[in-house]
Amino acid sequence: MLPLSDDERAAYEWQLWVPGFGEEGQRRLKASSVLVSRCGGVGGAVAQMLAVAGVGRLVLAHAGNIRPNDLNRQVLMTHAGIGTPRMDIAPVRLRDLNPRLVVEAVAENVTDDNAAYLVAGVDLVVSCAPLFEERLAMNRAAVRLNKPLIDCAMYEMEVQLMAVRPGETACLECLYPETPPGWRREFPVFGAVAGAVGSMGAMEAIKTLAGIGEPLAGRMLIGDLGTMEFRRVAVRRRAGCAACGG
Ligand SMILES: [Zn+2]
Repeated sequence: MLPLSDDERAAYEWQLWVPGFGEEGQRRLKASSVLVSRCGGVGGAVAQMLAVAGVGRLVLAHAGNIRPNDLNRQVLMTHAGIGTPRMDIAPVRLRDLNPRLVVEAVAENVTDDNAAYLVAGVDLVVSCAPLFEERLAMNRAAVRLNKPLIDCAMYEMEVQLMAVRPGETACLECLYPETPPGWRREFPVFGAVAGAVGSMGAMEAIKTLAGIGEPLAGRMLIGDLGTMEFRRVAVRRRAGCAACGG
């Protein structure tokens, strides 16, 4: 792993003080690459937190242009950018936060066709897609390629966070063997809910990459921001899971 420059030591000083993290942890983040898909309300918050934390390379995947109704939650995007591709705006905004960051922006959503290609090039995946087809495609690719995956989800004021360690823990498809009916790309939510679950997903990624803390692996965090009640639920591998074999 490459050493830190004086400039990097200065930039990351406050987190270098975190017990157990230190210069070793920072060098691990610098050497790491993370795929974030999609990069909207949740994924944008994930990307911002990983960028400022000093992860070396981010691969972002999200198709389409910024819409007026994105801006209650997609804090990585801008009002002036409405009508232009999200993947044109996101890299600029992230490098404003951290000019050391290498960003690759892919103007595609994840499908079974591109998931393996996108996942193969990174160390860890943070899945932030609203649609189950995308989440399950990302999960299958991560399991097949043995990459840790953090799955972030939200609805109204509820958040869900799950960490998948292929071969060790349940995967997303253990929990959802089929796409649940009734899910839509658009749904009721606040930006603060997206930011909360995105920040928590980013912290899980930082812990996993740096080897600190206690990862969420094997459990799902379910939080209700309406009542501020949080609980962790054990998720077991399912025998015969088509993705991970159970
Ligand atoms: Zn599974």
